[in-house]
Amino acid sequence: MTVRVRLAPSPTGHLHIGTARTALFNWLYARKRHGVFLLRIEDTDKERSKVEFTENILEGLQWLGLSWDEKPVLQSERIDEHRKAIISLLEKGLAYRCYATEAELQVMRDDQAKAGEAPHYDNRHRNLTSEEEAKFIQEGRTSVIRFRIDETATITWNDIIRGPMKWNSKDLGGDMVISRRAPANEIGDPLYNLVVVIDDAEMKISHVIRGEDHISNTAKQILLYQALDLPQPIFAHTPLILSPEGKKLSKRDGITSITDFRKMGYTSNALTNYMTLLGWSPPDGMEERFNLKESSLVFDFDRVNKAGAKFDWDKLNWLNAQEIHSWVPEKLLEELKSIWISEGWILPDKEWGLKLAKLIGPSLTLVNDGLEESRIFFNEPSLQSDGIKQLKMEGAKEVLSHISKKIEQEKWDGRNDDIAKNLISDCAKSLGVKKGLIMKSLRAALMGTLKGPDLISSWGLLAMQSKDLPRLKKVI
Ligand code: GLU
Repeated sequence: MTVRVRLAPSPTGHLHIGTARTALFNWLYARKRHGVFLLRIEDTDKERSKVEFTENILEGLQWLGLSWDEKPVLQSERIDEHRKAIISLLEKGLAYRCYATEAELQVMRDDQAKAGEAPHYDNRHRNLTSEEEAKFIQEGRTSVIRFRIDETATITWNDIIRGPMKWNSKDLGGDMVISRRAPANEIGDPLYNLVVVIDDAEMKISHVIRGEDHISNTAKQILLYQALDLPQPIFAHTPLILSPEGKKLSKRDGITSITDFRKMGYTSNALTNYMTLLGWSPPDGMEERFNLKESSLVFDFDRVNKAGAKFDWDKLNWLNAQEIHSWVPEKLLEELKSIWISEGWILPDKEWGLKLAKLIGPSLTLVNDGLEESRIFFNEPSLQSDGIKQLKMEGAKEVLSHISKKIEQEKWDGRNDDIAKNLISDCAKSLGVKKGLIMKSLRAALMGTLKGPDLISSWGLLAMQSKDLPRLKKVI
């Protein structure tokens, strides 16, 4: 069997991490089985669907490296097919028009609530006589179209993550609406469960892989496959991503869109690595850090958990840091350049940039941490309290003035570290002071604080830009 899987996002918001993880599991499975990964944009909700969200979803998937294999299908362009299917169900007597008004349905639901019953449609218009129907039409009532659900049926399927599944059709809420309310001689907009079945069949989807929140939809869709005489795909329901507290991840948890993660400085490799681990465990002997290529060679559903996966920021941060630390300086420099632009900082030259990337790289968790880490190399720092304290230490100013004079005489271009080291040693000998005093005072003068990356390399970066001497002179 050729594996054909799909992601079917609704473009009603930015690419959500849950959707991205569903995309990832579909993509991995397609690649593992040498199949195809397809996209279908479910844009039939005219009010909520926006082109900018479609663009964001496509861009996000591309950035994550989850390439698709055929032109994305736009569900809204297939409405004629959906209508045809509804007509065929009406003709076969498997669907019917329901003329109940919203007010009548509300009374029905209120009565059910009073009786302690779960809300459901009571199939009241399932067997209308033609006279009854004519009367409703004459009254000018609109209608929805409902699909008959035989309440005695048991729906079963073998879920490749969850094993044998069983659903009683009496728990599906009564005959299901398959098209929206419309004048009695028209067919309103076709609805999700119906269109998904028609489109998945048309796209020859072999495996429907989606979140476990769709399990009850799957039961309904199986009834539609049977009624429409369409081949049924295999189903896999993936565990949901939960908040760190174990609740369903929602907008209230803050960062949930791939755009947000990207803006914060997470890398696509760390994110796909982490999202794969949200629900899948690598086989014995495989490291927890892997790239898409590596996981696509071994991914299968036997190692996907049934239980929801709690989001763990520490783990994601660790993976992100590992990823950044594994980059060659050229790659890091490219990433840093794009965040420096936001501050209006221009890279003076590549040699300088690579030296800075090498210096700060090991301390970065997020690419964006590189902004603060590079700031003092672009802008003059303000003195922090520890820096001020250091510069007030006995001998600090003498040390700095000694070094300044030396640099004026023999300008250091910042490249040969031995020159800086010798300057410090000479100063210690000439003034009879400890090297610690010199190093700390230099740090305070050059960087404004005692914290920061390696002194000699930092000094070198400033010297390459002739920014060291003015900073020393300013504090002496
Ligand atoms: N548009 C649906 C969603 O975004 C698709 C669900 C499915 O995969 O069938 O949840």
